Amino acid sequence: MALKEIILVKYGEIILKGLNRPIFENILIRNIKDALANIGECRIYKTQAAIYVEPAQGVDLDTVVLRLSKVFGIMSITRACVADKDLEAVCKTALTYCGAQVEQGRTFKVEAKRSDKKFPYKSPQICAEVGGYLLSHIDGAAVDVNDPASIVMVEVRDYAAYVYCGKTAGQGGLPIGTGGRACLLLSGGIDSPVAGYMMAKRGVELEAVNFFSYPYTSERAREKVVELASILTGYTSRMRLHIVPFTEIQLEIRDKCPSEHLTLVMRRLMMKISERLALQNNCDALITGESLGQVASQTMKALHVTNSAVNMPVFRPLIGMDKNEIVSIARRIGTFETSILPYEDCCTVFTPKHPTTRPELGRIIASEKLIADTDEMISRAIDGIQTVTVTPK
Ligand code: ATP
Ligand code: MG
Repeated sequence: MALKEIILVKYGEIILKGLNRPIFENILIRNIKDALANIGECRIYKTQAAIYVEPAQGVDLDTVVLRLSKVFGIMSITRACVADKDLEAVCKTALTYCGAQVEQGRTFKVEAKRSDKKFPYKSPQICAEVGGYLLSHIDGAAVDVNDPASIVMVEVRDYAAYVYCGKTAGQGGLPIGTGGRACLLLSGGIDSPVAGYMMAKRGVELEAVNFFSYPYTSERAREKVVELASILTGYTSRMRLHIVPFTEIQLEIRDKCPSEHLTLVMRRLMMKISERLALQNNCDALITGESLGQVASQTMKALHVTNSAVNMPVFRPLIGMDKNEIVSIARRIGTFETSILPYEDCCTVFTPKHPTTRPELGRIIASEKLIADTDEMISRAIDGIQTVTVTPK
């Protein structure tokens, strides 16, 4: 019996979007097309609160599932076998498609969903028929409704019935492009890639900025940031990374400002440059990887000093998280191993021994004013930006 496999994509939060739901669905379909762009022909369409992906002959379904497992807005991805909407055909398909798995696990149960209410058998009847058929054709198989090794699913939908055993979890969240655009301050550390991932998961399209202090930070450190951006594009499809030459500004801060204020003055200038860049690139917010109390520049008072440098909202999705929670997300999304490569970041090179932890905004601003021509320096840094379009590897 020739089997036809397709992929059923189910979404989560989008279901709750009421009259706006088609807008979210269409953006999700666009993102799915983007994610599958270079792996061969796929027919993609939606019906009955699911998106169907029908790959042409020769397209590798495992690759399709892997790519979809990184697209935000998807709750689950199911590789399913198509059957005629006829109970006998469903039974035969279940045996051919799921038989080996049932045989291996021995215990199984059948679950059925009948979204086509015109189908003449109700869900319990479908379960009983398919279960009975599998029992009579697979030696040693037994039904266990409480704790089965395999669950054989039958979904009777508009155009066909679909049979499958198991599904892959999606990332959840909302489709990128439904949550606005924001500029991520991306360092080479563990935190900022996770912060970018978390905001992208809420549908935010990212533009990234990195501050680079050559020769105090090496070419390898720059490559590390590009690599982190590239890992993030596994989830976002593509992203532009703006690399800002920061050496002149850092040296000026080091020479003119009291050492305990260096980090905060530097962070304020990073924020100001990022805000300018964000405005030039139609972004409405900044994103950082700050977490309350993690280092001296992330106490509540220090964050107030940093925030006051800009007018734009600053999102800090890691603010309430412990380092080990952040690390576990970094591991899961695949950025951790790159983040811990030892190349130094521009912040670490100029870190003072005794940074202030309870800064007063007025005193930091006074220190900042010790720098001559801040605006010209910022403009020069912006003029020197190198922009890289990053794509997944
Ligand atoms: P990370 O692990 O992301 O480097 P961190 O814990 O080392 O963060 P800081 O160095 O204080 O913390 O930086 C706080 C935030 O400022 C970072 O999460 C990032 O968003 C931003 N940032 C720091 N350094 C840079 C840089 N060189 N380029 C761009 N953004 C930066
Ligand atoms: Mg850092």
